[in-house]
Amino acid sequence: MLRIALPSKGRLNLDCRELLADAGLEVRATSERSLTASLGGEFEAIFVRAQDIPEFVADGAADAGITGWDLVRESERPLTSRLDLEFGRCRLVVASREESGVPSIDAITGTPRIATVFPNLTRAFFREAGKPITVVPVSGAVEVTPHLGIADLIVDLSSTGSTLKVNGLKEIALVLQSSARLITHATPSDDIGRAAALDELTSALQSVVAARSKRYLMANVPRAQLDNVRALLPGITGPTVIDLMNDGVMVAVHAVVDAKGVYRTISELKKLGGAGILLTRIERLTA
Ligand code: AMP
Repeated sequence: MLRIALPSKGRLNLDCRELLADAGLEVRATSERSLTASLGGEFEAIFVRAQDIPEFVADGAADAGITGWDLVRESERPLTSRLDLEFGRCRLVVASREESGVPSIDAITGTPRIATVFPNLTRAFFREAGKPITVVPVSGAVEVTPHLGIADLIVDLSSTGSTLKVNGLKEIALVLQSSARLITHATPSDDIGRAAALDELTSALQSVVAARSKRYLMANVPRAQLDNVRALLPGITGPTVIDLMNDGVMVAVHAVVDAKGVYRTISELKKLGGAGILLTRIERLTA
């Protein structure tokens, strides 16, 4: 059995379940509040707090885990990111009060007090910047600390930036870009069966992540425009061109394209005389 530690609640829990289901590993829990679940085959899930996952994987209580890169780095445990899962994106930032007049790290003087739930990453960042600081460890409500006079600056997660803004704070530096990662112990398992199962899990998840940013596009285009179509639809190894049972003027092209900006691709294709354009999602993509 390969045990995978997953976040027990919140957005990360939902995103993990969706990713695993898309990879054909449905979470089958015996009850809503169950702490373990079968994922089918040789995989088992255990549900723990996202911040405890680095510890579980580093200690060998789980063979792999999915959690935020911020939590992995803060843990300072010997862990490896096997795969960027591209959800749970956020930024760990240094922020100051809008009216404090500290526009950048360079403008910091003295030894500011910095409130954060990430003391290790904060110390490492300011050590690197050559600025002495005092960390004020807190377990939440970081954004209010400058207004309470407890801290001069904060280091906190920001996604849209609206929480900072609402609290009269502005970002002055980026500490870390984070997203959910599939992690394992930094020292690879010497159990061949376990290592193979981990590789299998990694490539299954990778194929789902890769597919999410791509679409499969099919269209009929004039044969005379094939060079232009090839330039527009590079695909993975170039578009597939299929003869149609007509007079040979039109051919069908199939290609994997970037989901981002696909509407522009379609409108360019139409300008080249493309017709019968069909766009579908891809379940898994292995290059
Ligand atoms: P924001 O969208 O910037 O207003 O973020 C709202 C709050 O959600 C922040 O204060 C963060 O603590 C938290 N947050 C946003 N994204 C994440 C994430 N990916 N992981 C954990 N916490 C997050």
